[in-house]
Amino acid sequence: MTPRNHGPITYRVPAAKKSAVAKPQPVRVATAKPPRYLPPGTGTAPTAPPARPKAQPAQPIILQGEKLMPAQALPKDYTVKAADAEWISLERWGKLYEGWFGRIQQRSGTVHRLVAANMRFDFTPRQRLITCQGMQIWLGFGPRLVKGHLYVHALDVQKHLAPLISGMPTLGRVAVIDAGHGKDNKGTRSIFNKKYEKEYTLDWAMRLKPLLERKGWRVYLTRVTDDSLSLTDRVKFADRVHASVFISLHFNAAAAKVSGLETYCISPTGMPSHFTRGNPDPVSTKLPNNPWDASSFQLAARVHNQLLLTCKMPDRGVRRVRFMSVIKGQKRPAILVEGGYLSNPTESRKVDTAAYRQKLAVGVASAL
Ligand SMILES: [Zn+2]
Repeated sequence: MTPRNHGPITYRVPAAKKSAVAKPQPVRVATAKPPRYLPPGTGTAPTAPPARPKAQPAQPIILQGEKLMPAQALPKDYTVKAADAEWISLERWGKLYEGWFGRIQQRSGTVHRLVAANMRFDFTPRQRLITCQGMQIWLGFGPRLVKGHLYVHALDVQKHLAPLISGMPTLGRVAVIDAGHGKDNKGTRSIFNKKYEKEYTLDWAMRLKPLLERKGWRVYLTRVTDDSLSLTDRVKFADRVHASVFISLHFNAAAAKVSGLETYCISPTGMPSHFTRGNPDPVSTKLPNNPWDASSFQLAARVHNQLLLTCKMPDRGVRRVRFMSVIKGQKRPAILVEGGYLSNPTESRKVDTAAYRQKLAVGVASAL
């Protein structure tokens, strides 16, 4: 899959420097619509700033229709304490990665933008939803404004921003692909033709297997027929074949107007889930998958990104939840992908086409 790559053009706006004289400085203007391609990373440890040789300082990115607001002096404090937690200055943290930071006026309001590791991150104070290259990611906590400067919860920096900046983990070469549901556990039902989710997930898995094998993966499917398997059986299966990656495939259901793609991984310890579907959300629990927080998220972000690029579907974001048993027990990077809404009239029609299910398979495979 070739990323959508609209070449940047250059124009001049006042410098975002502290100097009193507004010196013109070139600013990159990207014309691409989201989502844009997430560059593959080195997968190195995200905790420390990059070692020598130093990364090139990031250039400002201002999209069409946006205005760069006057630059402020750097915030005094790298961290602040609030609400019993540590919060990290986005601007100062970004500097460690040779990032560029600016406040941008958009039609809908002001965003705080960090450009680092060739990616554009947009934040809005108090909102858990951020974008990375235009793709939606749900943080655990809404960032705070402290004396006009944006601070991100330390856990979000550790579990979301740092992993994104450091790219893909080393994933090994053994994938378990889990076609959701099976037999009496039929899953949701298509509003278009009354077919069950379990049929579509199996077809998606069968299409994905050869694509991954061609890329050198050993691939195990949790089921190849209309088979019943409990969620714990699916975890045990992955243990038995020593899977290095686990990907569960599903389709979604909600109100008829809801549509788009979602990718899930497990909530890190201490972070509230994006939603609970009525389940308890014990934030301080340590789940078996928590040691893979960073790599699961790196995998989720890249799979989600490739799916959006391949399938051209509405983006409903990369999300964290605690209740999904099939991924929370996994001792390896594990994600669950929802490939569209069978409750949506247009989308259920789409999911019924082989062409769309092939795109879903290509999307997942191209991220791995
Ligand atoms: Zn399902």
